[in-house]
Amino acid sequence: MAFELPKLPYSQDALEPHISSKTMSFHYGKHHQAYVTKINELTKDTPMAKHSLEQIMRDTANDAAKAALFNNAAQVWNHTFFWNCLTPNGGTGPSGELAERVKEAFGGVDKLKEELKNAAVGQFGSGWAWLVVDGGKLKVVKTANAMSPVVQNQTALLTIDVWEHAYYLDYQNRRPDFVQTVLDKLVNWDFVAENLKSR
Ligand code: MN
Repeated sequence: MAFELPKLPYSQDALEPHISSKTMSFHYGKHHQAYVTKINELTKDTPMAKHSLEQIMRDTANDAAKAALFNNAAQVWNHTFFWNCLTPNGGTGPSGELAERVKEAFGGVDKLKEELKNAAVGQFGSGWAWLVVDGGKLKVVKTANAMSPVVQNQTALLTIDVWEHAYYLDYQNRRPDFVQTVLDKLVNWDFVAENLKSR
């Protein structure tokens, strides 16, 4: 069973006008697909073809000779997670236990958004901003390139892709505007809450 590109949880144009159908066609249809194609090529006829993405990520994360395996497996995982973090019905906010944990850790959702924005904008070059659980505490972190909380002893709750391919067609060089729009209009807080529950 080869690795597959998971279906988007909404239609390709569902996030407009904030993320255009054109961006999705490249970001999901070309970039995410390319990582899936590549991890299949790299694992073909090896035991890894039967492993989970998480397993491959853990087995290759600290081995420079296996960087291509790690990068492609992690980028498949990170993108699938990212699509699930978004919804056309965003713009709400955390509720219930998640809201309490956010208040405890950051002082409130506005402070959390500010920290996520700072991490996303402050990531030099390609990478990701994340809300994670680390040692039982909610934290905001950023990772470079394909690096993922999956291999950092953290549970991912929410991510924002800040590779240029995520926003350049719609926002050009205005990464802060893209990040602010995602935070204000597109975050699937129910998915974030599920990730907190399931850990
Ligand atoms: Mn991306």
